[in-house]
Amino acid sequence: MDRYDYLVNRLKELNHRITPQRLAILKILTSSDSHPSAEMIYDQIKAEFPFTSFATVYKTIALIKELGEVLELEFSNDSNRYDGRRPYSHPHLICTSCKKILDPDLDSVNHLQKEIVKETGFTVTNHRLDFFGICPECQKNR
Ligand code: ZN
Ligand code: MN
Repeated sequence: MDRYDYLVNRLKELNHRITPQRLAILKILTSSDSHPSAEMIYDQIKAEFPFTSFATVYKTIALIKELGEVLELEFSNDSNRYDGRRPYSHPHLICTSCKKILDPDLDSVNHLQKEIVKETGFTVTNHRLDFFGICPECQKNR
């Protein structure tokens, strides 16, 4: 079962209302690899459902977040961004010029976590690891 079907089933099981708009929001959240903000999702939804309100988008994201099924990346100066494909802690690579966010494939994170646990005795529940820089496309356009 893919992420989209899984989430639709979970909402149904919990007796949440399933509307076409809500399904469209779930589709974007679970298929997009661009870590969209609520505004980006709203812009996409409006094309298909012109009468959707921003509140609908926001509330649906909040609901999915409550279920622990979306990872929220908070930024103090920019809109929060969402990863509905990988709702667990993982590192991100962020272009400070075009604001694109990527999921790098790194083997070293597990190792790093083990090292931290060994060093401090902490029980680690989650982490946040962001790398900021300029993506190759933006480097070319400078
Ligand atoms: Zn860029
Ligand atoms: Mn991600």
